[in-house]
Amino acid sequence: MKCDLIVVGGGPGGSMAAKTAASAGLKVVMLEKRQEIGDPVRCAEGVSMKGLNRMVKPEPKWISSVVKGARIYAPDGKRVVMSESSSGNGYILERKVFDRGLAMQAAQAGAKVLVKTRALGLLRKDGAISGVSALRIGEPLQIEAPLIIGADGVESKVGRWAGIDTTLKLPDIESCAQFLVHDASIDDEYTEFFLGNSIAPSGYVWSFPKGEKLANIGLGIQGSRSKPGEAVRLLRQFMKTRFPNGKVVEMVVGGDPCSGPIDSAIADGVMLVGDAAHQTDPFTGGGILNAMQAGIIAGEVAAEAITACDVSRSGLKEYDDRWKEDIGKIIAKSFQLKEFFVKLTDKDLNHLIGSMAKEDMSKMDLAGMLRVLFRLNPKLLWGLKSLII
Ligand SMILES: Cc1cc2nc3c(=O)[nH]c(=O)nc-3n(C[C@H](O)[C@H](O)[C@H](O)COP(=O)(O)OP(=O)(O)OC[C@H]3O[C@@H](n4cnc5c(N)ncnc54)[C@H](O)[C@@H]3O)c2cc1C
Repeated sequence: MKCDLIVVGGGPGGSMAAKTAASAGLKVVMLEKRQEIGDPVRCAEGVSMKGLNRMVKPEPKWISSVVKGARIYAPDGKRVVMSESSSGNGYILERKVFDRGLAMQAAQAGAKVLVKTRALGLLRKDGAISGVSALRIGEPLQIEAPLIIGADGVESKVGRWAGIDTTLKLPDIESCAQFLVHDASIDDEYTEFFLGNSIAPSGYVWSFPKGEKLANIGLGIQGSRSKPGEAVRLLRQFMKTRFPNGKVVEMVVGGDPCSGPIDSAIADGVMLVGDAAHQTDPFTGGGILNAMQAGIIAGEVAAEAITACDVSRSGLKEYDDRWKEDIGKIIAKSFQLKEFFVKLTDKDLNHLIGSMAKEDMSKMDLAGMLRVLFRLNPKLLWGLKSLII
C-alpha cells in the first residue's frame, strides 16, 4: 500500500489531520488499533461550545448534554458559580459517537481508514522515513509514505520511534479515574468541580452531566502524589460522601499529560499531534479541542510539504511555529498556573473561593475569574501577576 501521508491514531487529533490533508488532495491512510473508533472512552467528554463550533458543525448525536455553567467547590464546601449562559456554554459529548463521526468525516474527505490496525514501527529507506509497519487483524502490513502524523495519544510511540523526546515526568502526568454514575441528585445543567488536597491531591474532582441524571464523575491527581490504585480509591471515597446512592455503570482509568508544550513536535518525515505532543491544557486537563486544532494545522502543513516535496524537519517547521503560536502559548501559560495551584493548601483554596462571596462571577470565564481573584488576593497570588494582568 502506498500513499502520501499515514496518520497513526483515529482520535480527534488524527481524524482532523486526516480530514484536512485528504480535503487538500493528499492520499491519506489513517490507522487505528482499536476495532471500534472511540471505544473504550477515557475522557470526561467536556468541551466548550464555542471552541468546538469553530472547528466543526457538531451533529446532535455527538452531544449528550448542553451545560449552562460551572460550579466550583472549595474544600470547606463554599462554592462559586461561573461561565453561566442560559443558552449553554459547554457540551458534554458522547465520545464513542463523536470520535466515530470525525473519522467518518475524514473518510468522506477521501482518507482510507483502517481499524484494528496497530502501527508497530517506522519503515526507513536510505535513512529516510518511508512508511509504517503494522499489524492488521493479525496480518503484517507495510504501508509506504514519505510523511507520518503521530496522533497516537498519551502512550504515543511514533514520537519515540522518530527520536522526539516525549518522556513525561511523574509530576507532569495526571493519574485519572472516572465512573459513569446514575444518581437522582446529579444536576443535569451544571458541571461541578470539587477542590481539596484530601479528595484529589494537586488535582480536582469533576462531575460532568450527560443528561437523565447520568454523569461522568472522576478525578485526576498529580502522578508524583499517586500510587497504584490511588485514583480509584480516592474516587470511591468521594462517592461515599458526595453521591452515596450513586449507581456506577462504567469505569475508566487513564493518564492525562500536563507537562506544558514540548520543545518540538517534528522530526524528518514526522509530526506529532494532540496528546502524543502533550498538547493537553495542563491546568484543566482538556485536550480534545487542542488535539483537533493541532490536527488541522498538521493536515495543512502536510499538504504543503508533500506539494513542495520537502518533508524534512525544516520543511515541517511551519507546523511547530503555528501550533506554538496558537495553542502553545495558552498551554505554556496554563502550565505556570498549574504549577502554582498544585502547591496551594486547603486553607488557601478556602480563602480564595471564600473571597469571591460578594462578587458576581456568574458570567465570567476562567480568565475573568483569575483577574478577580488577583484583585482580591494580590498577596497570595503575587506569583501569577505576569500571567493574569
Ligand atoms: C479521565 C480523563 C478525562 C478527560 N476529560 C477530558 C475532557 O472532559 N475534555 C477534554 O477536552 N479532554 C479530556 N481528556 C483528555 C482527552 O481525552 C485527550 O486530550 C484527547 O482524547 C486527545 O486526543 P488525541 O486524538 O490526541 O488522542 P486520543 O483520543 O487518545 O486518540 C489516540 C488514538 O490512537 C490510537 N492508537 C494508539 N496507538 C496506536 C498504534 N500503535 N496504532 C494505531 N492506533 C493507535 C488509540 O487507540 C486512540 O484511538 C481527558 C483525559 C482523561 C484520561
